[in-house]
Amino acid sequence: MIQSRNPYTAELLNSYEEEKAYRIEEKIQQAHAAFIEWRRRPLDERAALMQRVAALLRERKESLAQLMTQEMGKVRREALAEVEKCAWVCEYYATYAGLFLTEEMVHTDASRSYVRFAPLGVVLAVMPWNFPFWQVFRFAAPALMAGNTALLKHASNVPQCALAIEKLFLDAGCPAGVFQTLLIGSQAVEAVIRHDRVRAVTLTGSEAAGRKVAAIAGESLKKTVLELGGSDPFIVLPDVDIESVAAKAVQARMINNGQSCIAAKRFIIHADVYDDFTEAFIAHMHKLRFGNPEDEHTDYAAMARHDLRDELHEQVTRSIKAGAMCLLGGKPIQHAGACYEPTVLAGVVPGMPAFDEELFGPVAALIKASSTEEALALANRSSYGLGGSVWTADTLKGERLAQQLEVGCAFVNGIVKSDPRLPFGGVKHSGYGRELSIFGIREFVNIQTVWIA
Ligand code: NDP
Repeated sequence: MIQSRNPYTAELLNSYEEEKAYRIEEKIQQAHAAFIEWRRRPLDERAALMQRVAALLRERKESLAQLMTQEMGKVRREALAEVEKCAWVCEYYATYAGLFLTEEMVHTDASRSYVRFAPLGVVLAVMPWNFPFWQVFRFAAPALMAGNTALLKHASNVPQCALAIEKLFLDAGCPAGVFQTLLIGSQAVEAVIRHDRVRAVTLTGSEAAGRKVAAIAGESLKKTVLELGGSDPFIVLPDVDIESVAAKAVQARMINNGQSCIAAKRFIIHADVYDDFTEAFIAHMHKLRFGNPEDEHTDYAAMARHDLRDELHEQVTRSIKAGAMCLLGGKPIQHAGACYEPTVLAGVVPGMPAFDEELFGPVAALIKASSTEEALALANRSSYGLGGSVWTADTLKGERLAQQLEVGCAFVNGIVKSDPRLPFGGVKHSGYGRELSIFGIREFVNIQTVWIA
């Protein structure tokens, strides 16, 4: 059974039987049949449907946000913003897909030669629970606009979100089969990837899941895009305004209760300001309000699942054992929900879980660097390479440093965030391929050369 459980109250909201093999087969065939028709539709028609999806997202904003809040504990304010962002990405690709997919003429020895962008077919999306709407729309808006059809295998703890997304596409008027949800567990994914009708896979989630899915897709010679974890560095140079950067740092760590792949996780602070920054950082962490995620004044509530909370606590415990100092928090909150105290670990160095692993929750690792060069070296001493930010009054210096970060998304004096207009993705163990912008829509297409004598 796939269970939908409120992680704040621990209440079971709903449960669903996993779909059987014959039903999965039907849905794959339906996705393929829909593809034959969908790819031929004029782009304008696909764009009009995508605009309609955006309008429906806005119309249903309150109820969709409520669903996220109940199913995975996201605070209401952030859930509402997530639905807005999904509408934005739909509108963005409805507007620009035509431009991004325009044939490109190339002068060669042919009388005419050009590049065209044809859809691949049925694409499987394996998605996580942390941004249960955004992660899906970030993939679906460009993939569908390019003429592909989609099968969603959502995380098992957010089946209601998965069904609500499927309904949005249907209610907007998309033909049945263009976007479908498969209610299946992770053990059923392999057969779907191997299915002849499925042409490509995208996964957002853990490194472990990424490795498994990519191995199967590799064996079947199918394209993959992987957006995996991160342990983003947040470099603080000595010339900053400590108070305002510490406030930003807490914001960067605590978005979605710390459960974001691009949340800042390792705060690498120049020794000259380490003590002052630490003090200011803790003061801002103290101000955060714990409570019911449905209350608009709540800053943090429950993590998405109890096992994730326990895993986080185990990482904190191991880090402390290895020598990290716990300056704030460091344990679960006494509550029925999967709640964890905002935690600050100081004196973190390589070799500790808080440095080497992804800590997916409200835990910040403070790391001291004796110089700018050492800060950069520490930032790059990670198996991950998703995002990173540099904070300094000297913007040019910040830019030079940002360019040397081994990450897909390098920011100066700004919190790392995704934006439909900019490519998003990582290097190293954070995955490969890009989402969003022109690069995202060109991942799931056949870049076809046409040469005419
Ligand atoms: P997972 O990576 O296990 O889950 C993400 C998605 O992958 C889910 O749909 C899951 O399905 C599916 N999945 C998991 N294993 C496999 C597999 N072997 N084959 C096919 N599909 C699979 O994340 P968790 O929810 O367990 O979270 C664990 C950690 O992953 C977090 O603590 C965090 O570090 C990282 N993570 C990173 C995210 C990111 O945004 N990059 C998002 C979520 C997690 P099912 O739910 O059915 O298992």
